[in-house]
Amino acid sequence: MDMEESGMREECGVFGCIASGEWPTQLDVPHVITAGLGGLQHRPITKGPKEAAKLIKLVTLLQPRCSGQEVSQAAMWRLRGLVYICVLADVMQSSCPCGRGAADNCSAACEYLDGCELLRHGIGLYTSSDSEMITQLLAYTPPQERDNTPDWVARIKNLMKEAPTAYSLLIMHRDVIYAVRDPYGNRPLCIGRLIPASDMNDKEKKSSESAGWVVSSESGNFLSIGARYSHEVKPGEIVEISRHGVRTLDTIPRSEGDPVAFCIFEYVYFARPDSIFEGQMVYTVRYRCGQQLAIEAPVEADLVSTVPESATPAALGYAAKSGLPYVEVLCKNRYVGRTFIQPNMRLRQLGVAKKFGVLTDNFKGKRVVLVDDSIVRGNTISPIIRLLKESGAKEVHIRVASPPIKYPCFMGINIPTKEELIANKPEFDRLAEYLGANSVMYLSVEGLVSSVQQDIKFKKQKVQRHDITIQENGNGLECFEKTGHCTACLTGQYPVELEW
Ligand code: SF4
Repeated sequence: MDMEESGMREECGVFGCIASGEWPTQLDVPHVITAGLGGLQHRPITKGPKEAAKLIKLVTLLQPRCSGQEVSQAAMWRLRGLVYICVLADVMQSSCPCGRGAADNCSAACEYLDGCELLRHGIGLYTSSDSEMITQLLAYTPPQERDNTPDWVARIKNLMKEAPTAYSLLIMHRDVIYAVRDPYGNRPLCIGRLIPASDMNDKEKKSSESAGWVVSSESGNFLSIGARYSHEVKPGEIVEISRHGVRTLDTIPRSEGDPVAFCIFEYVYFARPDSIFEGQMVYTVRYRCGQQLAIEAPVEADLVSTVPESATPAALGYAAKSGLPYVEVLCKNRYVGRTFIQPNMRLRQLGVAKKFGVLTDNFKGKRVVLVDDSIVRGNTISPIIRLLKESGAKEVHIRVASPPIKYPCFMGINIPTKEELIANKPEFDRLAEYLGANSVMYLSVEGLVSSVQQDIKFKKQKVQRHDITIQENGNGLECFEKTGHCTACLTGQYPVELEW
């Protein structure tokens, strides 16, 4: 199910790029940025021509020379070799009001920054934006800064002390990008190496040279920009990326005993299936969730299918584990607009039904297991069930590859209100009847967590790779001993204590 239809959505993605070696170089940084951001368009609401305009606005915002309505080829050419960072978010003013310099994926930081040292010092804020708070905190002189020269690492550390979670930041200062991930690692951030153009078509060649570096919320866009996945920015890590390479400056620890709290819903459906988190591909984890679901919620049926397209890996996993054939029953109509723009529930429901065509010959007279990745409000799956039944399905059994969502997210994910969540409504007790299905079952929290964590191995080693030098310190190593994921919207257990 699309994020917008579910009512649950990621708010933001960040992307940064820097050219290696002597500047100007032949690396076309603005084009890398544009393509990189294009590959993150699933994170905020970003589809269609309106969003293309947003991309251009973003590029323009960060580089005054790109004035006007479009980023022309000539303007891009003039910017070759420069450092660039950019952010994708729903509302430009809220996402990056302070101009060039900082990009964040941190919609929740405000919750933690409220009442922080910054405000106690009487610094007023003009927006409700996390970016403004982040920028103000970076401008604030920390006690450890003694002379007039800004100590950026000290400032970043000061910021991280004030805001323990939930953000990934790219901070640009002069010709350096600082990539920062909160100590709980709630939001993703990874680094890729740009392959020199001369090596791009030679898949066998393991070039150690880099044309530049990119930092991105996800790695799924790396292939399209000629980058190779290098590594993840670790929880609490402050990484400096310059024309000379990549190095860790420091790693800020969490409160003692606290595990990492990477958002488990990145695996469930925010992220692209081809992205890599914690050393594993998102697709593989979704497939495992489907397998686990088949173990926890078997059903006598004739075939397994998917609500295209995000639930497909889980449906394939369910089919493989249950021994039932995987058959497509729905095809997506690409020419219908997105349902979230419909002004009321009735039109939204019709929109969902119009969005899918039915492959009647594949399931007429058959018992169908339909796998979805989540049911949030419950108002989008019932028209699909009705569509299948009216088209000849004998039975429709819904299997959900994640647990019921019951609680709000204070870490930056937009979730419908508690009252809107189907798991909190009286109808949840008779959900199958309410949705018109023959049965409905969810993956358990334990099943989801074990599917996500079973392949994660935290490595404690000093890494030397090409021109990357990662200098682990004691704190950094301790950070990775406790594996963990945020499951707060499922369990009500938040990674940090909430202070209101
Ligand atoms: S509460 Fe849910 S959506 Fe929010 S960060 Fe935690 S797992 Fe992700």
